[in-house]
Amino acid sequence: MSRPVPAVFGSVFHAEMPVIEFTDNQWQPVKWQPSNDLTIPAGAHALHYGSECFEGLKAFRQADGKIVMFRPTANIARMQQSAEILHLPKPETETYLDALIELVKRAADEIPDAPAALYLRPTLIGTDPIIGKAGAPSQTALLYILASPVGDYFKMGSPVKILVETEHIRCAPHMGRVKCGGNYASAMPWVLKAKEEHGAAQVLFCPNGDVQETGASNFIVINGDELVTKPLTDEFLHGVTRDSVLTVAKDLGYTVTERNFTVDELQTMIKNGAEAILTGTAAVISPVTSFVINGKEINVQSQARGTAIRKAITDIQYGLAEDKHGWLVEVC
Ligand SMILES: *Cc1c(COP(=O)(O)O)cnc(C)c1O
Repeated sequence: MSRPVPAVFGSVFHAEMPVIEFTDNQWQPVKWQPSNDLTIPAGAHALHYGSECFEGLKAFRQADGKIVMFRPTANIARMQQSAEILHLPKPETETYLDALIELVKRAADEIPDAPAALYLRPTLIGTDPIIGKAGAPSQTALLYILASPVGDYFKMGSPVKILVETEHIRCAPHMGRVKCGGNYASAMPWVLKAKEEHGAAQVLFCPNGDVQETGASNFIVINGDELVTKPLTDEFLHGVTRDSVLTVAKDLGYTVTERNFTVDELQTMIKNGAEAILTGTAAVISPVTSFVINGKEINVQSQARGTAIRKAITDIQYGLAEDKHGWLVEVC
């Protein structure tokens, strides 16, 4: 059976979603409700004071018909970390994972054939209907999960031009590892400016020359046989894909170096033939084709290594290579 891929990424949802409420100081049993609408108080804390965070992960249909999720517990752990920093109630691992599994089971028939996936979007919001709580956390919350059949976000050979931004930051430095909508709102002016003024797909945020990440993906340089990327700090989002790429690269014989590096170093490495990649769940790896640094465009000479590492990961996801690290959770 061939299943069509929706034209716009993330525009179509499975009919129902699991909703888990936090009230009376505890998480309530899962309820299933239509996913087109959500009723929350107009005064909800999330809408006024930004007590919101989300996750993004995928389920796949493998070659033999099996449906699997990729590293869901890593995403659950990251949302628990986001919740802690936002002072939202921390979702419970087991209920959360069960809801994900049940959702993927129910939506399994809607997953387009490879290289496509079911994109899962857990969202946690503070729902206290009290607009006077600007300086206090929400005591109630909702966790709900959208499931969206998606095609391959990765377009082989399409240009990925990155604007190197050394003046502005993506978000407040202490919020970097929180996966929250507020950080996207914060990055928006620079992302739009990069598009309008340079035709750049993304902005690489490098405050004072320190190479961090783009608005929605992590950044790794492939310098010969070495992968170079910033060590995990509070300032940026700790991507599951970043971790998977570093692990798979080690398996492939690369050296992995997590260290701070500057735009000057990046420029030298690229001029000397290094590759650069963006990593994130949607596209897995997007090899960079050029950088705009100080108004000058610099081409990246090759995308071969990044593309090969990408294939090593998607092969695990689609069941074409061994899942050595136990990343897949079988759903049905
Ligand atoms: C989600 C996200 C990433 C990528 O994380 P993955 O877990 O690899 O999908 C990177 N940067 C930001 C800002 C993000 O929001």
